[in-house]
Amino acid sequence: MNKILRGVVQFRQTVRKDLAKQFAEIQDHPTPTAVMFTCMDSRMLPTRFTQSQVGDMFVVRNAGNMIPDAPTYGAFSEVSVNTEPAALELAVKRGGIRHIVVCGHSDCKAINTLYGLHQCPKNFDSSSPMDHWVRRNGFNSVKRLNERLHRGPSAMKFENEVVPSQSFEAIIDPVDRLPVEDKLSQINVLQQLVNICSHEFLKEYLESGKLHIHGMWFDIYAGEDYLFSKDKKQFVVIDEKNVTDLMAELDARYPVPEDEKDQKVAFAHT
Ligand SMILES: [Zn+2]
Repeated sequence: MNKILRGVVQFRQTVRKDLAKQFAEIQDHPTPTAVMFTCMDSRMLPTRFTQSQVGDMFVVRNAGNMIPDAPTYGAFSEVSVNTEPAALELAVKRGGIRHIVVCGHSDCKAINTLYGLHQCPKNFDSSSPMDHWVRRNGFNSVKRLNERLHRGPSAMKFENEVVPSQSFEAIIDPVDRLPVEDKLSQINVLQQLVNICSHEFLKEYLESGKLHIHGMWFDIYAGEDYLFSKDKKQFVVIDEKNVTDLMAELDARYPVPEDEKDQKVAFAHT
């Protein structure tokens, strides 16, 4: 705790003034445009590696950046009592954000636990909330990992039954350079994109093109961030060389809806 307290004092002496200015500028009208689901790992600093500022995005963190899927779909769907769907509703319906980002990472302890349980199911501890969490929400990711290991680096389909337009294909680790746990981590990010769509209240936003879901992955030891490219069907490093192509892909896939363009013009004139 001493480190945290010393940090607060250091914060007061350095960045506080500048941050307070930003809070004052935004006041009660922050306009975040994205919600990021990422891992609680202490090495993950999402606002730092995206250089986000006050009011830019919502961040939800848990073990393994998992979003539990809806227990049932369609007219019979139940209301979920988990944090993650609640955060989705807050960000999308009340916050009006247009982008959901799921960001996983290399050497993820939650994913390593999931893989360990897959290798040795008898190690499952029925009194462990963590074991239950990763098994319940990582079950499908492990199934897809088995498929990837069996078939090699070919395109895998991530079918979306609830919102078919959100289906995509992915080639996980095309040159087989990642350890198996990191392959699972990347698959797990993409599986969450499917899980998110299972929540009925998002369907109309997704189908009308007002909401988009993206997968990212952070290589901790290299400090490199990747974006999943639906065009290239793989994770692509976000660097000076690739960023223009990645932004062009996003612009082409997710054009700003006509009615929102009008809103922007209206805001510009007020
Ligand atoms: Zn993690």
